[in-house]
Amino acid sequence: MRQRNKPWADDFLADNQHIVIPNPGEHKQEWNKLFKNNNPIHIEIGTGKGQFIVGMAKQYPNINFIGIELAKSIIVTAAQKVLESEQENILLINENAENITDLFAENEVSTIYLNFSDPWPKNRHEKRRLTYHTFLTNYREILVPSGNLIFKTDNRSLFEYSLVSFSHFGMLLNEVNVDLHAIEDPENVMTEYEEKFSAKGQPIYRCKSTFNQ
Ligand code: SAM
Repeated sequence: MRQRNKPWADDFLADNQHIVIPNPGEHKQEWNKLFKNNNPIHIEIGTGKGQFIVGMAKQYPNINFIGIELAKSIIVTAAQKVLESEQENILLINENAENITDLFAENEVSTIYLNFSDPWPKNRHEKRRLTYHTFLTNYREILVPSGNLIFKTDNRSLFEYSLVSFSHFGMLLNEVNVDLHAIEDPENVMTEYEEKFSAKGQPIYRCKSTFNQ
């Protein structure tokens, strides 16, 4: 995703610490306290500009959503959307998901969404792919037993790679959809990238999987 320098980002984040949570590791195992309820927690890794997470939070008010986004210049746009939405069931974290086990405790998360993750096509960058086995090890740790990993992408190579990675990890593939938009699904909340690529006629792939405990 294209990043623009936003000189106002630091001030904006300082003013909106109730949405983009500073020092998120301090809330490990205690995220429900911040939401002031015991609803299940769903996280999106690589939230981008926030369209998906805000749409999901509106559609599912009894679920707590947390978006993790590495780029400060992008997460501020997501935070603006969260503010405008006035939804109280969304928080954001400006961190690298590599450190996700520092942010969430074992069994703290019910569902993880990976939406249009960066493909890192070069072999030497395989370890950066969010479906590489080291990431899967961490996802398994923070997910509740039978928690879902839901992955959407337009990138066929990354999709194929990820299916193999899930399968080598012994995961159960509960849905493999190679043309998500072929049938209209009112429950599918589109991301910014999903809108862009599907408008160009590209198929959207989705896999729903669970870890074999
Ligand atoms: N999910 C959005 C969508 O579908 O429109 C954005 C997709 S964009 C291709 C990928 C996003 O993931 C970027 O905003 C990038 O900064 C973020 N990202 C990439 N690697 C990440 C990581 N390790 N931790 C957190 N965010 C990451």
